[in-house]
Amino acid sequence: MLSYRHSFHAGNHADVLKHIVQSLIIESLKQKDKAFVYHDTHSGAGRYDLSDERAEKTGEYKEGIGLIWESDDAPEAIKPYLDTIRALNQSNKLRYYPGSPKVGLSLLREQDRAIFTELHPSDFPLLLQEFRGDRQVKMYKEDGYARLKASLPPKERRGVVLIDPPYELKHEYQDVVDAIDESVKRWATGTYAIWYPVVYRKNIDLITKGLEKLGIRKILQIELGVAEDSEERGMTASGMIVINPPWTLEAQMKEILPWLQSKIAPETGHQFVQWVVPE
Ligand code: SAM
Repeated sequence: MLSYRHSFHAGNHADVLKHIVQSLIIESLKQKDKAFVYHDTHSGAGRYDLSDERAEKTGEYKEGIGLIWESDDAPEAIKPYLDTIRALNQSNKLRYYPGSPKVGLSLLREQDRAIFTELHPSDFPLLLQEFRGDRQVKMYKEDGYARLKASLPPKERRGVVLIDPPYELKHEYQDVVDAIDESVKRWATGTYAIWYPVVYRKNIDLITKGLEKLGIRKILQIELGVAEDSEERGMTASGMIVINPPWTLEAQMKEILPWLQSKIAPETGHQFVQWVVPE
């Protein structure tokens, strides 16, 4: 089933949180000269036109990136992320929003490389078109988990894997846990960043409890909510679960999240950073 199109949701509060965490991990990998890989298992189209009828129909970006992209009081650590958006929008109108592949490639250095997988018959050609000719990236119209399994461990032995499935079906929560189980057996020291939506809170427990049972350590959970948990209102919060996070990430997010919440959901929101499993 491939009915999900990210263009309806590009630039919403969940994208903002996800891409900030992604950019902080990549920036931290850049502290050393040694090359690394950025592996994006569920890539989407790569870049989104917010004047497109799908984005306009939901208007979700107006409640996400629209509230922060021009802020002059943003924490210093999110500057690289905001710069990728400002580079795409040279006027004061917000028209384009980078998907995770574009955020990733904008931040890589020439020695680094990227792997993108996307299965959707409409989004894969858009992804190809966006990055065709870029020698730093390999793109595959394949199952993201199968390609991940085939790619680990990366030859650099350094890098980050972003896992961002659509969660259209309930088994996708368990699929994430199974993918991590397979992946850490091949590459235990990699950083894995898993995005999740809070629609039914018990589904998030499936991921966190499933990961705990794998016996791996250093699992950090980061969440930003715009409303209280509710089973009737769709996505009320979203988060990132990061395995082997850079040591700076917890402190950075403790500074960034209160600021983000104050911009995006000052009255109704919540935020936290907590260890699912500490070191
Ligand atoms: N990571 C993107 C971003 O942040 O810009 C958004 C990705 S969107 C949430 C999820 C994507 O996964 C959709 O474009 C969907 O077509 C794709 N997808 C679904 N199942 C997949 C699979 N098994 N392998 C690879 N991609 C898949």
